Amino acid sequence: MKRASLIAVGNELLSGLTIDTNSAFLGGQLQGLGLEVVSRYTVPDELTAIERALTLASQDADVVLLTGGLGPTDDDLSRQGMAQFLGVELKLKEHLLDTIKGRFEARGLDMPARNRVQACLPEGTEALANECGTAPGVMARRGDAYFFLMPGVPSEMKRMYRSAVEPVLRPWVGSQSIEHRRLKCFGLGESALVEKLGDRMQRGRNPLINCTVTLGVITLHIIGQGRSAAAARERVEDAESQVRALLGDWIYGTGEQTLAEVVAGELQRLGQTLTVAESCTGGLLGKEVTDVPGASTFFNRGWITYSNQAKTEELGVSPDVIDRCGAVSAEVAEAMATAGRRKSKSDYSIAITGVAGPEGGTDSKPVGLVFIAVDSAAGCQVKRCCFAGDRRSIRQRASQTALHALWQKLHFDLPQ
Ligand code: AMP
Ligand code: MG
Repeated sequence: MKRASLIAVGNELLSGLTIDTNSAFLGGQLQGLGLEVVSRYTVPDELTAIERALTLASQDADVVLLTGGLGPTDDDLSRQGMAQFLGVELKLKEHLLDTIKGRFEARGLDMPARNRVQACLPEGTEALANECGTAPGVMARRGDAYFFLMPGVPSEMKRMYRSAVEPVLRPWVGSQSIEHRRLKCFGLGESALVEKLGDRMQRGRNPLINCTVTLGVITLHIIGQGRSAAAARERVEDAESQVRALLGDWIYGTGEQTLAEVVAGELQRLGQTLTVAESCTGGLLGKEVTDVPGASTFFNRGWITYSNQAKTEELGVSPDVIDRCGAVSAEVAEAMATAGRRKSKSDYSIAITGVAGPEGGTDSKPVGLVFIAVDSAAGCQVKRCCFAGDRRSIRQRASQTALHALWQKLHFDLPQ
């Protein structure tokens, strides 16, 4: 299998001033082409660092893509770094100089002398046309390996990649293929999930299975390589059915699907409506649900009853229950959910009440304690949750958990 390595050049990337979006873009593109990206380097605007990165990258990759350092200033050293790595001199190319001068003339300007360096290429290499900037890219070969140097400006780099790099790589990669499928899971921890999958997540396997976690949502990545697209797909599909058999309902979706999208799809399919009554999430749940296009077909309304007074006045929650059990309690969550559903005449309702912090926690009701109630004609279920993290993540986790509780109830109420 052919392999790739990425190099990002620039002091601003190391200091964190600029996020390396170029490598993220290229990583995705190369995987889509069927190339495994085996390493990524970030180096400062220094000649020796660039040369060293080229040496290291070429040791374990068949193609190296470098971005940045092709500008006209003294700190733009990628051309020189490449020449040094190849053991050749930089040579001025008259036709490139004419193109660069032409770009300035088109804007009624004389080319500054320092831009001349952009018309220089390491001997034996080829220029890649830059359709939206002055710096041409560079394509070089050493042995069987390919090297592409592209500008750092993301828009210029993407254009050059698509017009000049991908057309070379695609036929060179051939039918070798990588299939990447994502399964979205919710409701169990990372370690519990890993345990269920046993040795399927071991390194070095094909397909490779690994996971990433954001706000309680675990994304399982199944990445299979093959000599053809069909071979890679078959490997992944095989692994997917094994994983599905082991995880069952812990998997709620695929690809980039969010819980809100999946819940929205189910409500639409079943022709059911939803109302929300929120306290500590302050409208976040309603926002997530209405982020889904077409939400008007199932979303009825939302209350943000933040104060006790609002809970009583808007939803009719009894002041006695609030006094006796506290605003953050299973009883109040249930009262909010049932009242919300009744008043709005919806099929389903969700209520959330909790302590988002950082202040306001007590021994019996610590920060992170959240009650989530989901009500339907089949009854009301209340979930007691203890979330870790700061105010923002507690609120987000609460809203995700509420959506998942509704998803489970939709399945439970109406077995398919
Ligand atoms: P350069 O081609 O090195 O002169 O880079 C020009 C500009 O592109 C820099 O000032 C950054 O703002 C941006 N840039 C360079 N490298 C990257 C990268 N890897 N990811 C995102 N932006 C970048
Ligand atoms: Mg730079």
